[in-house]
This record gives sequence, structure tokens and C-alpha cells, in this order.
Amino acid sequence: MTAATPSDRSVELVQTIRKFALDARALEPSVGERRQLLASVNEFAEAFLAEVDTRPAYLDTEHKGRGLYASPISESGMEMDAVLRLFKENVVDVGLSPVSPRFLAYIPPCSLYTGALGDFLAAVTNQFAGYFSSCPGAVRMEHQLLRWMADVIGYPPSALGAMLSGGSTAILAGVVTARDAHGLAGRDYEKCVVYMTDLTHHAMDKALRIAGMKEAVRRRVGMDAGYRMDPAQLDHAIRADLAAGLKPWLIAASAGTTDLGSVDPLEALADVAERHRLWFHVDGAYGGLFILSELVRDKFRGIARADSVVLNAHKALFTPFGLAVVLVRDGQLLQRAHFHTANYLQDTLLEDEEPSPADLGPELTRNFRGPRLWLPLKLLGVAPFRAALSEKILLTRYAYEKIGSLPGFEVGPYPDLSVFAFRYVPAHGIADDFNRRLVEAIRRDGTILLSSTTLDGRYMIRFAVLSYRTHLDTIDLAIDVIRRKVREQE
Ligand SMILES: *Cc1c(COP(=O)(O)O)cnc(C)c1O
Repeated sequence: MTAATPSDRSVELVQTIRKFALDARALEPSVGERRQLLASVNEFAEAFLAEVDTRPAYLDTEHKGRGLYASPISESGMEMDAVLRLFKENVVDVGLSPVSPRFLAYIPPCSLYTGALGDFLAAVTNQFAGYFSSCPGAVRMEHQLLRWMADVIGYPPSALGAMLSGGSTAILAGVVTARDAHGLAGRDYEKCVVYMTDLTHHAMDKALRIAGMKEAVRRRVGMDAGYRMDPAQLDHAIRADLAAGLKPWLIAASAGTTDLGSVDPLEALADVAERHRLWFHVDGAYGGLFILSELVRDKFRGIARADSVVLNAHKALFTPFGLAVVLVRDGQLLQRAHFHTANYLQDTLLEDEEPSPADLGPELTRNFRGPRLWLPLKLLGVAPFRAALSEKILLTRYAYEKIGSLPGFEVGPYPDLSVFAFRYVPAHGIADDFNRRLVEAIRRDGTILLSSTTLDGRYMIRFAVLSYRTHLDTIDLAIDVIRRKVREQE
């Protein structure tokens, strides 16, 4: 028996490497295979889109996608067609249908086809959008989009922003920026006061908790008849808190509440914030981008005076899920709250012509989110977005007036944007119970989808319009469904 020589060992090593490489070949489809894969996915997408306008807003299934578990992840793969069948049966045709034009619940999402193509380009090229020095073009694209939005709300050149996964993460980035900008530390938190209303999105509470500030005092400020924060009551509350030795810190205003679409009086709130030197945060996750519509632009006067603003592209700009921005008027403060470095990252500091997304938000390696908005805006321009938002506003006013004029129906305040609340008051029985059953009956029917909220202790049904696919015929259909379901319930 002779010992293996170094050259024998290296021959064996090379053979083993080749064997593994061969086994891993499937990870690198050939040109022909790629074309076939894409053709299958494209055919799937076309079949889906062909019926998107008429598909139910809600699909009630017994299995709720359990079929995925019947096909476990295993050592070898399956054919694309079989995989797409699993996807359709267990994922696409189950539960809510967020892209349906008949989805009038919550905040209706949709997804621009060109946005999906942007995601495809981003994923195929997989640019590292964390540092300017790594992929400067990717970073410039995001800065260009952020600057565009900053211009839309009237922010000065000092503003900086970050593209994050959603409104919740964007609000968190705003909260930690506000915390650090005011130099707050642990012992201060229980004296800090945050001013909000009963309609402030719960993402603010969640952000405070994640930011370590769960002790902060939440002061619920009263609202006017349109469910907008009352500036006089805000001023009064701040004075009372100052007198009590507390530390008024942050005003959490809404430019479009989720419940009702109400826009707080931003200009008057900015005056109060300035008077008492509070951080003025505006949550425009749902509604802020309605500023693009001439019909409601005036309602946003004062937004440029906010210290931080959150806007969701995956709501009012219709992109696929996963894109919201936080904009901070003094961009240095956003950077100061998020900048970190490490020895192994020292090379990234050499180029600083543009600030890096990794220094403006919590992420290092990140989804390159720019293309899902950049591609639609480059291909279509801004004009169709403005038109779609104006159409949504008018559709909402139309629905509000139609429903308000039906016998037995009661409507909430006139819509500021594209959401309103209503309910049916039955001749007999308890209205809350009746409307709860009505929403459930509409959901089970599935033709349209509505959701509910509680206003001043009353159960109210929300009517929300935001899909670019929702048009006048859908609104008429929805009103028909509501009337029919009321008759069936009575
Ligand atoms: C949707 C929404 C949020 C949360 O945004 P996500 O993207 O769902 O995290 C926050 N505030 C308001 C007003 C919203 O409508």
C-alpha cells in the first residue's frame, strides 16, 4: 500500500469538485430553459390578468392553501407547470384577492404590471443598493425617486429619505430619528409625550415600542366633526403637559387616516409644533400622495413643514407590496440616527458623493426597491397617476352620495380622500349586529369586499377606493350588492 501523492490528491479533488458542479448545474438554466421558464410564468400571468377584473374579491376555500404541505420541499425538483398549479390552487385562489378592482376593504392595494417588471429587473440584476460605492446607479435611482417625492410635498434640498419595506418600517425610522434629534435617552422616555388621535395608525404605537419607548405618554387629542385633529385642543394639551413637568415631544398627524381618510389640518398643527418646538411627524402612508391630485391638493397645505413624512408607494402609487418612504426635512438627522460602520466595511466610506441607503435606514443588504417605481414612472410619466387618484376621489364622492341617499342608510363625514363610512339602520333590532352580519354576508358572497371599523362606539362599514382598476361600473356593482344583501338580511 502506497500513500497517495499530492498530485493524486489534487486529481481526486478536481474530480469531486466537477461532480458537485454537475449536480448544481440546475441552478444555472440555459438560454433555452430560461425562455421556457419565462414563457410558462408569462402564460400564467396572462391567464391571471385576463380574469382579474371579474374575479371575486374574496375566495372562501375549505383547504386554505393546505395543499402546499402535501407537496413537501424535497431533494429533487418538479416541473414548472406542476409548481404553477400548486401556486394557483393554494396561494392565488385562496382568501383575499388584493388586485381585484372589487376589493373595497381596508386600503385597497393593487400592483402595476410595469412595477412587477421592475421587480423582475431588480431581482435578475440584483444590484447592491446599500452603498453608493457599490452600485452608484442603483443608489442614484432611489435618490432620484425620493427627491421627486420630496419635491411633490414641497421639501427643501436639505431633505433626505429612505425606501423601506412599508409604512410601518418607515414610521419606525421616523420615530428613531425624532428620538435622537431631540437627544432623548432611557430616563426621559416616561416623561415624553406623543400627541395623536383615536384614528392614528397603530404602527405609531408599535414603532414607539420597538424604539424602546413604550413608556412614552400617548395623549389622545380631540377631533373635529370630520375626525381631524383639533389644533386648539392640541395646543391646550401641550401647555397642560408642560405645566405638569412632562416633555412634549412628537405630534403624530395623519394625512389620510386609514379608518376614514381624514386629513388633519397640517398647517395649523405645524404652527403648534413650531410654537412649542415639537417634532412634527405626518403619516401619509395611505393618503399623502393624493397631493398629486389637483382636487385635494389644498388639504395638504403645511405638509412641507413636517419634520418627517411617510408615504407608501404600495398604496397610492399602486406598486407591488414592499415600498414606502420616510422623508426627513433635515436629512442629516435621518443619517445621524442610522449611520453605523464596521471594519470590514471601511472601503464603502471612500466614495461619498451621494449618501448611502445603508446609512439612512436600518438595512444593510436590501431589496433594490427603486425599479418597481422607477420603471412605471419612466414608462408612463406622472400624468396617469394624477388622473387615477382624481378618479378615485370622484368615485368615492359618487358612492358617498348614492349610499347616503338610499332609504335606511346613514353615512359618516364627507370623504376628504377616498374612504368613507356608512351603515344601515334597520327598522327593528340592533344596528351594530345588523351591520356586522351584513359585512359577513358580503364577504361570504365574495363579489365585492368591504371592511368595518368602530367610530364613537358604533360599528360602521368602510367603503375604500384605491385600486387603479376600480372604475364607475365597479362602484355601481358594489352599491347593488350592498342593497341586495341588506334586503336578504332584513
Ligand atoms: C397602511 C398604513 C400604515 C402602515 O403601512 P404598512 O405599509 O402596512 O406597514 C400606516 N399608516 C397609515 C395611515 C396606513 O394607512
